Amino acid sequence: MLGKIETLPSIAGKIVHQMAAEMVQGNLGKSADKPGAAAAMFTAVFDRLFMESATGLAWQRDPKRGTRLFEHHYGLPADQLAASMEKAAAAGRAAAAGLATSEALARARVSQLEEVEQLTKTEIAGVKVWVKIDVSHGETPRAHGTLAHLSPVALGRFRALSDEGVIYLVDWKSGRRKPEHQAQVILYAAYQLRGRGVSLDRQRVVLSYLADGSEVVVQPDPEAVALFEQQLPAAALEIHSRLEPPGEINLGPEENFPRTEDLSECRLCRMLEVCKGKRTID
Ligand code: SF4
Repeated sequence: MLGKIETLPSIAGKIVHQMAAEMVQGNLGKSADKPGAAAAMFTAVFDRLFMESATGLAWQRDPKRGTRLFEHHYGLPADQLAASMEKAAAAGRAAAAGLATSEALARARVSQLEEVEQLTKTEIAGVKVWVKIDVSHGETPRAHGTLAHLSPVALGRFRALSDEGVIYLVDWKSGRRKPEHQAQVILYAAYQLRGRGVSLDRQRVVLSYLADGSEVVVQPDPEAVALFEQQLPAAALEIHSRLEPPGEINLGPEENFPRTEDLSECRLCRMLEVCKGKRTID
């Protein structure tokens, strides 16, 4: 259950992503096309989820669907809760407003969609990897729906018949630019290459920073992708070697997973209750 707890910033990001998916597919019609309307839509959902989290009842009944915020669960003091809520809401409102004027969203809307809010398991360098895609689309004008339901073989046929153009993978960012976003670009590129069969020269990864409307469009670097694929198996093996018995997927002795010495990491850790045996924030 604790694994399903979310923080205020993560819930704000989730709402923005859900709105983006609906807008790309035209499901919100014209109602969210103006920044003010999009921001109001965000606020309505954010407030509803905040209230749902306050009691935690929906989460206790159904942890997968119900909302429980870390800040409620661990009893963040009222003044800190109000400040955190306002900060997350302001960032979410700005990002939602940015969706209404986003060029990346406008392009995706008129192009043939490949995947929208898709969580996919694929194999990269012999390692099973889960990847969440915000939106990917081609260059051709939109026919209807997405291609996400097609098997790799059917998808290959579709591409051969339609075009061999560039595939854009868009990653919505509701926060600021961070150095780790470049590592995400490499993961997306490896996923598109191995999981979807899109050669690197046909790929563009678009980092769309919604709050300020800026975009970074990256053509993946083949050397960086090759290095990632080379290093991935060793990293996966290192984690697996800590699990017991061998072959187990999520069990291992406590001593193989030492607690972090950086206590700032613990401040927003959902597992605080299990790890430290108490339900308070230091
Ligand atoms: S509280 Fe979380 S971050 Fe801190 S040591 Fe425990 S598991 Fe690690």
